[in-house]
Amino acid sequence: MTELRYRLPQRRELVSEVPGPRSRALDVRRRAAVAAGVGSSVPVYAADADGAVVIDVDGNSFLDLGAGIAVTSVGASNSAVAQAVSEQVAHFAHTCFMVTPYEGYVRVAEELAALTPGEHEKRSVLFNSGAEAVENAVKVARLATGRAAVVAFDHAYHGRTNLTMALTAKSMPYKAHFGPFAPEIYRMPMSYPFRDEPGLTGERAARRVVSRIDKQIGADSVAAIVLEPIQGEGGFIVPAPGFLPALAQWARTNGVVFVADEVQTGFARTGRWFASEHEDVVPDIVTMAKGIAGGLPLAAITGRADLLDAVHPGGLGGTYGGNPVACAAALAAIDFMRAHDLPARARRIEAIALPRLRALAAECDAVGDVRGRGAMLAMEFVEPGGAEPDPELTRAVAAKALEQGVILLTCGTYGNVIRLLPPLVIGDDLLGDALDVLEAVVRAVA
Ligand SMILES: *Cc1c(COP(=O)(O)O)cnc(C)c1O
Repeated sequence: MTELRYRLPQRRELVSEVPGPRSRALDVRRRAAVAAGVGSSVPVYAADADGAVVIDVDGNSFLDLGAGIAVTSVGASNSAVAQAVSEQVAHFAHTCFMVTPYEGYVRVAEELAALTPGEHEKRSVLFNSGAEAVENAVKVARLATGRAAVVAFDHAYHGRTNLTMALTAKSMPYKAHFGPFAPEIYRMPMSYPFRDEPGLTGERAARRVVSRIDKQIGADSVAAIVLEPIQGEGGFIVPAPGFLPALAQWARTNGVVFVADEVQTGFARTGRWFASEHEDVVPDIVTMAKGIAGGLPLAAITGRADLLDAVHPGGLGGTYGGNPVACAAALAAIDFMRAHDLPARARRIEAIALPRLRALAAECDAVGDVRGRGAMLAMEFVEPGGAEPDPELTRAVAAKALEQGVILLTCGTYGNVIRLLPPLVIGDDLLGDALDVLEAVVRAVA
């Protein structure tokens, strides 16, 4: 692994109360100008960020264990990305690929064909957001199969547009009162080892799904199964081994398009380029966004050429989709991930953090489960002696960690999961420091 260099000092340092006076002043302006429906996890406003550190407007340095929700894997101001972006923007910021195409888009598509699982012939389309990628995967699957039904899962998160709200499981805050929702979405039980009946293997959990599909939809009406290989917002749920391969196999046998939503798990996050690889699953279509472009908004679908090429010219696209600046950022970020072997870096983060989280769970009844892969790790908090979710404790842990200078995100259907999503470039020292804080906070609060 090559040495990583940072622009900003990689340290945690608080110089004001949290939030400080400048963040509080900005928050007053924000409330008068920004819609209340947009929330923020932390009450501090960013002024600068690099590596695994975010500096706020009051000069506090926070350790960032959220990476802007798994986006800034290469750091929030990666110098290679910054240079590629400024070079591209100095030439052209936009032509619209649907008007005047350019090489950057083609190169990103070539990279995605090489990086995503499977050796088959592939095609890609680029978009702006994860939700847009998921929407388009469904469009392609419906057109290519001539079928309408789409299977999604309990605890799923696929976005906030109308179709992706329908695919998303959790009502509050994502769906409540935003309906009516898109039709022909069928929700199936997920494999959730911590909460499933003991002994429910991945294969049996998959058979439960298949049986419901057969009874409630009919396999020959299903266009696609859309599934996160590790569920993100839903609680970093890693399905039991065998669940994903069994569903992918069933999809193949029945002419159903298996869509792996790797928006959160993709691009080295879980210790492989894509989480599907942990069980040798080759999806028909992969959706990507978040970690793809070092923080620039870019999303993609990559899938079987026969599926993607089934769509008529003009059927897919968008004004900004595959913006040249975002493509330049993606190419630089991908080069960086390769050169610095960030999948290995994610595995190292797991090797450091997971044993410490497990030890914490062993000593602390409130930590019901520890799970995840690579740099996508989580603790699920429960009421001691059972499995009843404890979202208040979870919120308290995140709040106390922030007071100590660590940005921690929560997630989960029951709001009782602390998720660790550090930038993959986080140094060992900093990660150790963040875990020290986390351990102290959990011991103090639980
Ligand atoms: C974040 C996320 C999305 C939505 O991506 P946006 O860019 O926010 O639209 C979709 N699927 C998964 C798995 C995600 O984590």
